[in-house]
Amino acid sequence: MAVEQNITETTTASNTLKYNLTPEQEKKEILRHYRSLLRSLRPKLKKGDRELVRIAFKIAAEAHKTMRRKSGEPYLLHPLAVAMICVEEIGLGVRSTICALLHDTVEDTDVTLNDIQVEFGEEIAKIVDGLTKISNVMDTNTSQQAENFKKILLTLTDDPRVILIKLADRLHNMRTLDSMKKEKQLKIASETVWVYAPLAHRMGLYGIKTELEDLSMKYLEPEAYKDIAKKLAETKRERSRYINEFIRPLKEKLEGTGFNFEIYGRPKSIHSIWNKIKKKSVTFEEVYDLFAIRIILDAPSEQEKEQCWKVYSMITDAYNPSPERLRDWLSNPKSNGYEALHTTVMGPQGKWVEVQIRTKRMNEIAERGLAAHYKYKEGHSEEDRFDKWFGQIREVLAQEDNDDSVNFLQDFKTSFLTEEIYVYTPKGEVKMLPKGSTALDFAFAVHSEVGSHCIGAKVHHKLVPISHKLRSGDQIEIITSSKQKPSEDWLGFVVTAKAKNKIKDSLKEDKRKVAEDGKYFLQRKLEAVGAAYSQANIEELVGFYKYNSQLDLFFAIATKALDLKEIKDFSIIGDRLELPKPKVTTTSETVFDQQKQLSKKDSELIIFGESSDKIMYSLAKCCNPIPGDAVFGFVSTGKGLMIHRTNCPNATQLMANYGHRVVKTKWAKNKEISFLTGLRIIGVDDVGVINKITNVISGELKINIAALTIESGDGIFQGTIKVFVHDKEELEELVTRLKSLYGIQNVDRLDMDTAK
Ligand code: MN
Repeated sequence: MAVEQNITETTTASNTLKYNLTPEQEKKEILRHYRSLLRSLRPKLKKGDRELVRIAFKIAAEAHKTMRRKSGEPYLLHPLAVAMICVEEIGLGVRSTICALLHDTVEDTDVTLNDIQVEFGEEIAKIVDGLTKISNVMDTNTSQQAENFKKILLTLTDDPRVILIKLADRLHNMRTLDSMKKEKQLKIASETVWVYAPLAHRMGLYGIKTELEDLSMKYLEPEAYKDIAKKLAETKRERSRYINEFIRPLKEKLEGTGFNFEIYGRPKSIHSIWNKIKKKSVTFEEVYDLFAIRIILDAPSEQEKEQCWKVYSMITDAYNPSPERLRDWLSNPKSNGYEALHTTVMGPQGKWVEVQIRTKRMNEIAERGLAAHYKYKEGHSEEDRFDKWFGQIREVLAQEDNDDSVNFLQDFKTSFLTEEIYVYTPKGEVKMLPKGSTALDFAFAVHSEVGSHCIGAKVHHKLVPISHKLRSGDQIEIITSSKQKPSEDWLGFVVTAKAKNKIKDSLKEDKRKVAEDGKYFLQRKLEAVGAAYSQANIEELVGFYKYNSQLDLFFAIATKALDLKEIKDFSIIGDRLELPKPKVTTTSETVFDQQKQLSKKDSELIIFGESSDKIMYSLAKCCNPIPGDAVFGFVSTGKGLMIHRTNCPNATQLMANYGHRVVKTKWAKNKEISFLTGLRIIGVDDVGVINKITNVISGELKINIAALTIESGDGIFQGTIKVFVHDKEELEELVTRLKSLYGIQNVDRLDMDTAK
């Protein structure tokens, strides 16, 4: 069943714990929500609208009358809350409110699309249909999911309100995720960071994006979340004092100009602070931009730019700016509509401070994104950025079906949901590309023929290779040759879906041509041994040699990667090849060993899932879980159950894309086996530091060291240590002890199996 349904699983009132209102009180509560929705909507109501909203409310009330949410609340409160988010937080209007009220009716109740069309017309029925389809996306198998995802994107390009209402729905579900079961929480939170937060960002809904990320983190990384939240609260007073000190001189100057303005400090989100800590490997105390200063100007439209730059110059008179940190989104707004001027200046006490300057109108767009920007069905002559974006999506969707659906999702994410750069053609035409794009991506963006024959490029008149990464503002001239054609290694550096698809298509075409020879050769070979060149025999061979397709088989024969000598050893019955049973391949040695070793000593994992039987499992190499870590099981093809940490770098991707293969797992206590794990240590290079470290590990804590490497230079050393520990507690004890050593700056657990 669909995920949305799972989120809002119904229970009977008697199951509920927290929620115990009398039916009368419940009714009042519902009406209270309905009235406040109408109040928010009032300025937008035209003649007859109030009645339409009332009818939608009545239909929803009737349809969900017996349903309750997991929390025990009447279900109706959910569509009411979603509608409220649409109006208050996204700025949508009456029609969207009606759709939000009805968004779960077709899926979960007896109401049909036809009913809705009869009552409200085509436009609303279409949006509700789109919303119903999206609910089904995430819980089916992957290829189905990619198909569905494409469908959503098509609806999105039809009517963006579908995605906006969907985001409101997701936001409310995330806000009320507490009452769900733990594994549901993980899955829903993963999906949210994987797809919905980037979508919100792309729609320019910064507030919603940030809240979705923070809420997801609360469930995916509860400890880190609580830790940062606590530290933020503890340092609040000190921060306010600093912000006031910083703002004071600016305020005076601004007041002198006669501008209408607001100035305040704003804390950064927990999720973004956490990202910095992880990415830069620093502590909370070392993250310098815990907040940003925001200046909002109430400027008449013809003076917006001018006033923003005037304020900029005033700020940089007071504080010294960092030259490489000026971001001008006034002249070139982001494709999600964001406009502002950002600069980072040196504030009091030698601290860097980010200052954001924008007007009230720009602020509205930053908060309400698409809805504030996109004028529905009101003749808008200039080509809208969103239209451009939607146009690009349509173009990619219209291309040949991609056979690899997970890659499709990944490609889509990198192509359309990441930040973009602006580059120019020699004639000065602007092209928008995702960050990380290369000269070759640019060539394909110009035209697929230009891409296919690209041999190099000139960036600002300087010759660069096709793999050259572009930066905003680059002007690029593509050099082509008629002899050039796409090659496999191109896939290694292009990032846009368009370039990838075109290259793959071309490679496939080449392969098909080569494979023709293999086909011919196989035909003769089969006839020579007296077997038929039949579909059945070909498939038999594909299966035996473990190729993915006939094309791969033919290609392997043509390129001599496969020798058909053995074919004469097969028996032939009639005209059919009788193949020996395929050999069972063993999984990688180490995994196998680990498995053996573990199962010998009785299982230390209890698996809660379909059955509580002991199951063969192995520990994922990407995150090396140890007892005590929060973990989940992932049913992988070929290797059985893999155990990953919930904060494994691959976890969100796995849970979001293959939710149906995730099983809940838990460690049982076992003190006999030790597990290999790695630490990275950074510190000041000092005589005897290795001695001190090894002394703590093997001397004091009696932990076995498997490997130790230290590199030093410029007075700093960086080491990786692989140790055998019994559980997380022991590891944490080790980390604390190491951190307390003189000269040690940071000790981190190694995630990936990178340290050799
Ligand atoms: Mn819903």
